Amino acid sequence: MSEQRVKPILIGGVAVNPYESLQQLLSDAISDSGKVIPGMAIAINPEKVLKSQTDPQTHEILAQATIPFADGIGVVKALNKKTGKKCVRIAGCELWLDILHHSVKHQSKVLLIGAKPKVISQCNEILKEQNINVVAYQDGYFKDEAVVFDLVDKTVPDIVIVALGSPKQEKLIAKLRTVHPDALYMGVGGSFDVLTGNVKRAPKLWQDLNLEWFYRLVSQPSRIKRQLKLLGFVKQYLTNKL
Ligand code: UDP
Repeated sequence: MSEQRVKPILIGGVAVNPYESLQQLLSDAISDSGKVIPGMAIAINPEKVLKSQTDPQTHEILAQATIPFADGIGVVKALNKKTGKKCVRIAGCELWLDILHHSVKHQSKVLLIGAKPKVISQCNEILKEQNINVVAYQDGYFKDEAVVFDLVDKTVPDIVIVALGSPKQEKLIAKLRTVHPDALYMGVGGSFDVLTGNVKRAPKLWQDLNLEWFYRLVSQPSRIKRQLKLLGFVKQYLTNKL
């Protein structure tokens, strides 16, 4: 898995690694010997880039990512324009599973946090069947964050997957890293719902045509306000301001 390390490129002020393959990213997450490399993987999409331009806290958190990857066709296009290379979009809802599958060899300890109690419990079952070493899990509707800090203390995980949606998950990860830096953290939004079949992803053809965002809009029209904001990203792209 030894590939040359990828250097980040600024997109709208946010550092993003211009990965040309999934393999390249995985070599930043898992060492040649199969051990997990501590850090924080964050999916960067146009929504997060825009948010970071007006919210210093978001900007600061995104800057702490050790694996900032492009999960959004707008960010991929901007990377391609800046690097002249053909970068890939890496779907966060697939990447976390790739990382967990690579963790089986060393039985790295995995802690799962987020989603509804029933969903996280189903998720744990599915992952255990795949020989992933889930040492503990906690649903995302806890009243006191101390519950999560206690779990981290008790289990000393190698990988922590957090599914609370953005920016909640990134904020929690930033705090957890200060007490337990020796793990790889990743925020995965609604991915536990997807793995357990409680939420459907766009059909493969839509994914391949880079229209997953459009599918989400059609199936959840309430997202229209969020999507309209993204025109600001398109404008910055077209005027070379990113
Ligand atoms: N969630 C949670 N605790 C909360 C709020 C949300 O565990 O206090 C979970 C929710 O059940 C869902 C995920 O976080 O599984 C949010 O998914 P969404 O698709 O909204 O996130 P996005 O990918 O858009 O950031």
